[in-house]
Amino acid sequence: MLPLLRAATGFSPAMRIFQKTSSLQQIRNLNLLECNSKELLEKYGVAIQEFKVLDNSSKDDQLLNQFDCPEYVVKAQILAGGRGKGAFDSGFKGGVHLTKKKEEVLSLTKQMIGHRLITKQTPKSGILVKKVMVARSVNITRETYLSIVLDREHNGPVLIASPAGGMDIEAVAEKTPEKIKTVPLDLDKPIPQNVLTDIAKFLEFKGECVARAAGEIQKLFDLFKAVDATQIEINPLAETDTGEVISVDAKLNFDDNAEYRQKEIFALHTAEEDTDPREVEAAQNNLNYVAMDGNIGCLVNGAGLAMATMDIIKLNGGEPANFLDVGGGVKENQVLKAFQIVTSDPKVKAILVNVFGGIVNCATIANGVVAASKTLNLQVPLIVRLEGTNVDAARKILKDSGLAIQTAVDLDDAAHKAVAALH
Ligand code: ADP
Ligand code: MG
Repeated sequence: MLPLLRAATGFSPAMRIFQKTSSLQQIRNLNLLECNSKELLEKYGVAIQEFKVLDNSSKDDQLLNQFDCPEYVVKAQILAGGRGKGAFDSGFKGGVHLTKKKEEVLSLTKQMIGHRLITKQTPKSGILVKKVMVARSVNITRETYLSIVLDREHNGPVLIASPAGGMDIEAVAEKTPEKIKTVPLDLDKPIPQNVLTDIAKFLEFKGECVARAAGEIQKLFDLFKAVDATQIEINPLAETDTGEVISVDAKLNFDDNAEYRQKEIFALHTAEEDTDPREVEAAQNNLNYVAMDGNIGCLVNGAGLAMATMDIIKLNGGEPANFLDVGGGVKENQVLKAFQIVTSDPKVKAILVNVFGGIVNCATIANGVVAASKTLNLQVPLIVRLEGTNVDAARKILKDSGLAIQTAVDLDDAAHKAVAALH
């Protein structure tokens, strides 16, 4: 159960590395803001609240003038959840607010846009808010959870449902696993009616709401298939006081390999909306970057090696600051770029290069490492462990460089030297 939910929510650091550094094929999953996700939901007939998107421009007034609601919900748009319970760097609390007054919508918007929102799912410094969604508020009587994720174990999509919605689903899985139901789905067929009804009832919908919820779930699955999603998460899928079933919050991820047939969706994504600018820079150079909290910068090739490196650094009493996976077909100039990204984090007090040359030629890495050390005038200790294709030539390049590069015989030695170099 939990590994599946981890795959769905992607919280554990090891899982993040695994997801982000799969290097044989550079897999990245496109994220969309809630407002963009909701546009897709609407297109597929899924019930959502009517909304406008404000960006602090002169058009905001006009948009609001044409939008009369008894009550509004104002939501900061960032690529992370937990907004409701989040806080801004200004001290202003909450990324989700309700108000009955139209004039208050703009003042709430001004307190959000241009400020960084910090939630359980953002980096510690938060994410800059550039857009705000203003939606017609509904009176929620009950919040349920529904997601559909592509799951490797099942080799296909799996639906995850819980009547305990609106909260952190990992906590629900841990404390009350009986409140979570997982159902493998068949990509080639609609969900059978009896299965839909079972899910709706498990979500504790009653009376007419059972058929309504079933209909919404089927439409969400249609959307999932049509847009090549890897994940659709609706939290909450809410019931209202008038008996409607509405997707109040939506998070969609997409398979990057489907970009060629989902051009419109991918065009919605602007690099600047990504959470960490270093991730964006890495992606632009065909590298994978994962930020962590420690002080050893790590340059590796492959997800497996990234995880092994993390474990061994920890065993030796250190903490990785980040991982930069250079992947298989790495070129010398990408190694330089990788070093620039790794060292741009002021927390980095030592760098560990751990590369196993299979497809990668160790000499390419060695030349890249030497060039980067010189170009960047590297000031922190550098420990290099290379193994595999052309390793002897690589060792000679490092030695002949005359630079203070420490070489290591194996991974344990490398991690030991990296941790020792901090003191
Ligand atoms: P996040 O998951 O990022 O915190 P949500 O969109 O799920 O953002 O909003 C957080 C909570 O705010 C919801 O679980 C719900 O309780 C409340 N909320 C959101 N939209 C509305 C609305 N239109 N009316 C009433 N409450 C809402
Ligand atoms: Mg939510």
